[in-house]
Amino acid sequence: MTSTTTTNTEHRHLRPRPRGEDLLPRPPAWTRAALCAKVGSPSDWSPDPSDTEAAEAAIEVCGHCPVRAQCLADALARPRLAQGTIRGGLVDVARQSLHRRRLRQTAPSVATVPVLEARRMVRALSADGYGRDVLCRESGLSRSTVVKIRDGAGGGAGIESWVLDRIRSAYKRLSSRRPARGSHTLKAQRYAAARGWAPSAAWAGVDMADPDSRPRVHDIDAA
Ligand code: SF4
Repeated sequence: MTSTTTTNTEHRHLRPRPRGEDLLPRPPAWTRAALCAKVGSPSDWSPDPSDTEAAEAAIEVCGHCPVRAQCLADALARPRLAQGTIRGGLVDVARQSLHRRRLRQTAPSVATVPVLEARRMVRALSADGYGRDVLCRESGLSRSTVVKIRDGAGGGAGIESWVLDRIRSAYKRLSSRRPARGSHTLKAQRYAAARGWAPSAAWAGVDMADPDSRPRVHDIDAA
């Protein structure tokens, strides 16, 4: 990087380029205080990715820049515009990583609920004769999710509440009718019978979410 002081008041690499949504009529006011507008040349902030020395020199300047925070925030908000440049003291990869980290930190936590009720419903529907594919289609859940709920070991594991909502909704629809008879129906029923799962009729009026509840057919181990 040259140490020549430039007379630029708005550094070229901070100027918006004419690219769709990133287009701005003029650079934000904070760019007038950009240190890179006074030191070096614009290309110093777009070094060849293999030139780590050049990148480090630019990052060093950013470290003394009075508008570093604004510059970084702007680059994170408009990644396409900042692509290929050092902004706020970070190269593309470092900015992407920071962006992902912030997303994870601000993401709302997803509520989890015990799997027991969903498992009992899926098993009851299997005993009714609904195969895995029907359960996937009706619930909108993936095969692996349905199988994990149906066959997973233990009762203490949690699932996300929206998954339970989907199973409940599918259970409400499917348990009120009989499945079309076919080889899949018999296969599902055999699978359930071999494991002692009670059909939905045995759970009518029973709170399936209550760990102490049992299906009304007492000789069937449904949990
Ligand atoms: S943080 Fe770096 S790239 Fe951003 S304005 Fe300052 S010197 Fe320029």
